[in-house]
Amino acid sequence: MSPAQSFPRALVSSAVLLAALACPAAAWAADAGHAAKPAAKAEKAAKEHGDKSAKPTAKASAKDDTEALQRLRERLAAKLGAEKAPEGRNTGVVRVVARSADEHESAAPARKAAPRPAAGAAHAAAKPAAGGAADGHALHWSYSGEAGPKAWGGLKPDFIKCGTGTRQSPIDIRGGIAVDLEPVQFDYRAGGFSVVDNGHTVQVNLEPGNSIVARGERYDLVQFHFHRPSEERIDGRVFDMVVHLVHKDPEGRLAVVAVLLDRGSAQPIVQTVWNNLPLEKHQESPARAVLDLNHLLPADRGYYTYMGSLTTPPCTEGVLWMVMRQPVAVSPEQIEIFSRLYPMNARPVQQAAGRMIKQSN
Ligand SMILES: [Zn+2]
Repeated sequence: MSPAQSFPRALVSSAVLLAALACPAAAWAADAGHAAKPAAKAEKAAKEHGDKSAKPTAKASAKDDTEALQRLRERLAAKLGAEKAPEGRNTGVVRVVARSADEHESAAPARKAAPRPAAGAAHAAAKPAAGGAADGHALHWSYSGEAGPKAWGGLKPDFIKCGTGTRQSPIDIRGGIAVDLEPVQFDYRAGGFSVVDNGHTVQVNLEPGNSIVARGERYDLVQFHFHRPSEERIDGRVFDMVVHLVHKDPEGRLAVVAVLLDRGSAQPIVQTVWNNLPLEKHQESPARAVLDLNHLLPADRGYYTYMGSLTTPPCTEGVLWMVMRQPVAVSPEQIEIFSRLYPMNARPVQQAAGRMIKQSN
């Protein structure tokens, strides 16, 4: 699936089905949570997200219809695709298929579901666990509580790597071997984008046209998103935030470039994204602006590299990580804006387990 497909309106209905296939856990259980939320909570949640005009009760019947339709689609999606394409056919290599790729770290475009009221904050979505399971749907995952990172591996068979994997991300990067690493060749160009708050992070989906060459392979940039604080550590140090730029090669292998964000002056690209934050969760909002991601990269292109995984379920391994060594400045106000949406959306560091880490000289 290319992000370009998420733009034409005509593809919305097929995109809904594909998206339902693409992000089983996050989407389905979140829906259960939304449906179960009493109006008072919904209103509170809407307020927390700055939408003071939300009137959940007035919208209740439209919302019920939308959600009933959504559940129907999801059941259909489950029947059609949930068992397909087992993971790990090829050990150590990620082949991204629509089914297994989570909306967050994956290269799949954000789900383009029918508009729904922003009822229910996704951070609280750990609740409907039992209902989700009874339905045969995935349990929702979160960054804390009973569906927090320690529980991810047991939430769903597809998430097993989150618990048993030995090449997981993020890690505390230390003891790297300093060598003459080939620079990552960035070929980023100004282009269109859309922003979605997917319930786990703010994600920016990009029109095609940005790519990198790493280790002789070309990867296209599909999306980027944010974590607070940084998931990766450098010699134990945590940074205020991190951007993950998710790239995919023609065979579906993933390469993620991490740019650490450190408190300082304002970051223009981050500001453009914040300026285009959608009013509602799960609704992709095309921006009337362009992004030139060259302005998000640090001047010093030295980096650390190691093999790891997605940092969100299904925690699929075989992901090439390149963590830029020099952080980029972001202002306290910009950090504060993100933290109002996601005060903490970082997976704890995982065991390096003897993995090779290389770093630029
Ligand atoms: Zn990430």
